[in-house]
Amino acid sequence: MFCRGRLIFTVRKRKRDDSLELKKTIQKIAETKSITEEELANILIIAEKEKREYLFQKAREAAERNYGKKIYIRGLIEFSNICKNDCFYCGLRKSNNRLDRYRLTEADIVSCADYGYELGFRTVVLQSGEDLFFDDDKICRIVREIKKRHDDIAVTLSIGEKKRESYEAFYEAGTDRYLLRHETANRRHYENMHPENMSFVHRRKCLSDLKEIGYQTGCGFMVGSPGQSIHTLYEDIEFIRELQPHMVGIGPFLPQRDTPFGEQTARIEGIDSTEENSIVDSTLILISVLRLLFPKLLIPATTALGTAHPMGRELGILAGANVIMPNLSPVSVREKYLLYDGKICTGEEAAECINCLRRRVEGIGYQIVVDRGDCLE
Ligand code: SAH
Ligand code: SF4
Repeated sequence: MFCRGRLIFTVRKRKRDDSLELKKTIQKIAETKSITEEELANILIIAEKEKREYLFQKAREAAERNYGKKIYIRGLIEFSNICKNDCFYCGLRKSNNRLDRYRLTEADIVSCADYGYELGFRTVVLQSGEDLFFDDDKICRIVREIKKRHDDIAVTLSIGEKKRESYEAFYEAGTDRYLLRHETANRRHYENMHPENMSFVHRRKCLSDLKEIGYQTGCGFMVGSPGQSIHTLYEDIEFIRELQPHMVGIGPFLPQRDTPFGEQTARIEGIDSTEENSIVDSTLILISVLRLLFPKLLIPATTALGTAHPMGRELGILAGANVIMPNLSPVSVREKYLLYDGKICTGEEAAECINCLRRRVEGIGYQIVVDRGDCLE
């Protein structure tokens, strides 16, 4: 009996010591804005909710110091699901012949932006597969038209890898921002997720071109993509430090059944995914870590996070995210932009969507604001 009592005492003490250690590590990361691979591993394996809460609280404080309780919104216009690429994880890949393909017209795209403006959006994100039908002239024409109609709107493009000259032309036409997730900073991992004709080096070159040209640039990655490990995640953080993007988008990898990764489940090598420590938890932990390391970064609570968990976007904000990207695409095409299975908000009109999100965001003590939502330099 005595022995058992001692054992419980020792375990409790160790737990308290662990908690203390962890708090110290989190404080150190927040103060020095640096992290070692070992610290990242120790944080990613936290299985207890209470311990994670301390991390989230610190991340919220960092977000609040810079952005208050403001949540920026970007209206996403998914204008084509046609893609010349064959990324192994994505439902839009060209070899997926089960997908019903669509393209919006230029007039449709502009009227989606008009509608978004009316609803209070001051940023629109034009996203698509790599669809060569939309050549540089068409893209520039669309951007110019949106900027002409609304001089206080920011236009973001997310249309994949292009030549430097194309990026320059889009910038000249008035594009403010560009989102191109780097997907992974580890070459082997990248090659594991893409066919041979896609190049790790070219993707990085695109990102450095975008930064050099002057875009507010966003990179990012999926959490739990096949082949990801604590080490590759550490490399992602190093890469972000080097690139100094304005935004980093991360969301869980979600399998799409008609892709080569359709049978995979999201998982980080070296971490046992359990009910207490799921891929959603890992995503939230990584959002917090990014917030502590890069306090001014724009970090979206992604639709993928909202798909993986019914409260995903709220949890993302409570872990330090400060952007959400509701869908402005016409409802008739939403289900066809199927990057992954189970995508949320495919049935609602944008107005309903934004009202619902406004309520949900207010419910956790934050406010959606009518603002371009530029990154603080
Ligand atoms: N074609 C452009 C933009 C569309 S894809 C591009 O590739 O940059 C936008 C992002 O969706 C990708 O960068 C990828 O990170 C994410 N995505 C694709 N398939 C996904 C999946 N199965 N699960 C989660 N995110 C996915
Ligand atoms: Fe195309 Fe982008 Fe999907 Fe790759 S991730 S297949 S480039 S839409």
